[in-house]
Amino acid sequence: MNKGNKLYEGKAKIIYETKDKNLVIQHFKDDATAFNNLKKAKVEGKGVLNNRISEYILSSLSECGIKTHLIKRINMREQLIKKAEIFPIEFIVRNIATGSLTKRLGIPEGTNLEKPLLEYCYKKDELNDPLISREHILSFGWANEKEIEVIDKMTLRINDLLTGMFRAIGIKLVDFKIEYGKTWNKDTEKKEIVLADEISPDTCRLWDSKTEKKLDKDRFRKDLGNIIQAYQEVARRLGIMPEETNISEVNFGKTIPIKFKKK
Ligand code: 5GP
Repeated sequence: MNKGNKLYEGKAKIIYETKDKNLVIQHFKDDATAFNNLKKAKVEGKGVLNNRISEYILSSLSECGIKTHLIKRINMREQLIKKAEIFPIEFIVRNIATGSLTKRLGIPEGTNLEKPLLEYCYKKDELNDPLISREHILSFGWANEKEIEVIDKMTLRINDLLTGMFRAIGIKLVDFKIEYGKTWNKDTEKKEIVLADEISPDTCRLWDSKTEKKLDKDRFRKDLGNIIQAYQEVARRLGIMPEETNISEVNFGKTIPIKFKKK
């Protein structure tokens, strides 16, 4: 599939047109940003890892009946995806209190939440993606009641599936952010809601089950180092990197050869 004009460039990804008006290419960059772009760096290999990890996670969810925008991964940094009208909302699920939840409400760090907590944020960089209520979404027409109902249900199901997927590889899914869009379904000739964007260590908090070592973007946000090693560890445990890749032998700052298992 040939890449056409750039349609949109975000902090971590670029979207390109294709010849098919219903399909676009999603390119994963190595750029890491935090605190609404105040902190920026290039993390060599991050785009390649997130492309592969997100492909694996979205494909696994799709096998469990979750509709996603993913068609296929086309190379190390790119995926062919359905073009979607993205809801301007970040859907956040929390299983353990940390991050902005502890800052905002003083809930002690690491508190296990009795049931998953669903939050909505308005996707607006200029406003720092503020927390909003369901009523804001309905008042301003960012989604309608039926759409929110469908998305809430899908989001909690995704949390169940991902929690199990990560638990099986010794990782606690602490929290994550997902996005949704509407795409055109050729068969039903109707728009349908699909999971969009990406699911990767950039968009989730992942802690080692035993040591609680952070295996996600908090390593960048909090200057903990070894960002790529942590992302590689997630890929290795998911079974999408060869066992012989010994992350402890990789020195931070060096270019790391990234190999994936053949499918
Ligand atoms: P918090 O609100 O605690 O900062 O983030 C909650 C969860 O959502 C974390 O897993 C975090 O990575 C994810 N998240 C929230 N906003 C964003 C965002 O704008 N970009 C990315 N990549 N992840 C986000």
